[in-house]
Amino acid sequence: MTDLEKILAAIPKKPIPIIDSQFSFDVYTPLDLSVSNTSLEHYNITTPAGCQEYIDTVLAASKAKVAYGGYLEQRNLYANTPSFNSASDFVRNIHLGLDVWAPIGTPIITPMDGKVHSFKNNTTAGDYGPTIILEHSVNNVIFYTLYGHLSISSLEQLYVGKEFKQDEILAEMGAPEINVNYAPHLHFQIIKDLQGNFGDYPGVSSKADIDYYSKNCPNPNLLLSIGV
Ligand SMILES: [Zn+2]
Repeated sequence: MTDLEKILAAIPKKPIPIIDSQFSFDVYTPLDLSVSNTSLEHYNITTPAGCQEYIDTVLAASKAKVAYGGYLEQRNLYANTPSFNSASDFVRNIHLGLDVWAPIGTPIITPMDGKVHSFKNNTTAGDYGPTIILEHSVNNVIFYTLYGHLSISSLEQLYVGKEFKQDEILAEMGAPEINVNYAPHLHFQIIKDLQGNFGDYPGVSSKADIDYYSKNCPNPNLLLSIGV
């Protein structure tokens, strides 16, 4: 076990909120956007409206209000995004974060104490749009959490080094026009080594690189314990 894995393993296994507490955990439902989910054939999930239509169906069927999931999920969601695609094993379609799907403007809550490492509006199609990276230090181990697909205003009062306590409002979910063309959701990712990145880090890996990325980006649910 790495130092970060030990820290995550020591966190009590009770759910930690990452979005507004108006959504209690009993209105969460898992969402499967993987290539093996044949229900997706009836929806064009590469568009925000088509993806939202499928999510709304899943939410209605389970009387839920929030959908979540996606760590190491292989997806077709990026099939229309040229920057993600090249040959076979190098196609970037394996998702490295946990997505939480909820309405535009939903407040995002800091899951553990941290300070702003960096932030940026990543505006390339298929990217994160407004993004915040927090730095955490536990038992002298430094690691990072990334929050993507935010609103523009989420970045307005920020500065590098700004501290956030657990349960404090960090940001809010952006609209498709701002989050670079996705149904509204938070992309949450844990990162050990940022590899020199600033306000950005890959959220999707190719099969060829997944060994490295799955180690560098452990399961976000080791921290959040949502639905486990
Ligand atoms: Zn995501």
